[in-house]
Amino acid sequence: MRFKRPKIAIIGAGHTGATIALMVAQKEIGDIVLVDIPDLEMPAKGKALDILQTSPIEKFNVHIIGTANYQEIEHADIVVITAGIARKPGMTREDLIQTNASIIRSVSEHVKCYAPNSYVIVLSNPVDAMTYVCLETTGFSKNRVMGQSGILDTARFNTFIAEALHLSVEDVTSFVLGGHGDEMVPLVSYTYIGGIPLEKMLSKAQIEQLVERTRKGGGEIVELLGNGSAYFAPAASIVKMIEAIVKDKRRVMPVIAYLQGDYHVHNACIGVPVVLGGNGIESVIELHLNEAEQKAFANSVHAVYRTLEYIK
Ligand code: NAD
Repeated sequence: MRFKRPKIAIIGAGHTGATIALMVAQKEIGDIVLVDIPDLEMPAKGKALDILQTSPIEKFNVHIIGTANYQEIEHADIVVITAGIARKPGMTREDLIQTNASIIRSVSEHVKCYAPNSYVIVLSNPVDAMTYVCLETTGFSKNRVMGQSGILDTARFNTFIAEALHLSVEDVTSFVLGGHGDEMVPLVSYTYIGGIPLEKMLSKAQIEQLVERTRKGGGEIVELLGNGSAYFAPAASIVKMIEAIVKDKRRVMPVIAYLQGDYHVHNACIGVPVVLGGNGIESVIELHLNEAEQKAFANSVHAVYRTLEYIK
């Protein structure tokens, strides 16, 4: 038997897609196919070639191509969907719904046709709903279709906590649950600094400020950039998920998963802690939530249901 490098297809060669490709290449995780629409095939090819030309400097061995031809994703092990339009200043994630839902449907049809055994990670916003659309369109099993939001939201929360305390981010662990919207639920009761509960280190008011900044974390960057949305931290979050799957790491992380009764959620995709490994979402971990967290989570689920109803 001949061992092969994993094949990673990235649909959408924009800011996040190209950054994911660069990080996957630098970490030598697998070969990469970067796909965009026919009008943007040349820029996709250009970005792929540019990344490839960093390989003699960074010393990695992977193949990377840009294309508009979906046949090239054949036998992909992982497909990352970043296709869609990004938020512009003043635009909510929900404004993106209609356009991105039809893009995700069409991309998912191609994935179903050309990479029927792949694991799919959705990034396009509104990501909880787009993960659902992808799951429904591909018909893949629920362990193979997932979305990214919680790793990014948790990273934002940890960044703000470390800054507020003037301590290393390495010692901050926390968890953000729920939908990737303003109703997301940073779990303060599961937040520790080197094993010490956050609530012992900051006042209630200070923590509430950090929670609020986390909830608005995406919007803050949209306003600063003036054109488009965050892409470095989102890309790093996706790469963490890809690595957990292709290296069968069985990591515990917040991932958007299809729920059928877990956390009392039925028939929706939403961010919850999961074990992510070689079989994709290996299991969902049920956390005990206090009353305030339960209420906030229910609120977040409600917002995700509203978006789904809008699409349906
Ligand atoms: P971008 O505009 O830079 O790139 C999107 C790319 O998708 C473009 O190159 C576009 O041509 C391409 N595209 C559109 N339709 C396509 C199709 N049918 N097939 C192939 N490619 C297609 O945007 P971005 O900054 O890379 O963001 C991409 C998406 O990810 C947006 O919806 C954004 O809101 C979302 N996002 C989500 C998170 C998260 O945490 N879930 C974080 C950042 C960005």
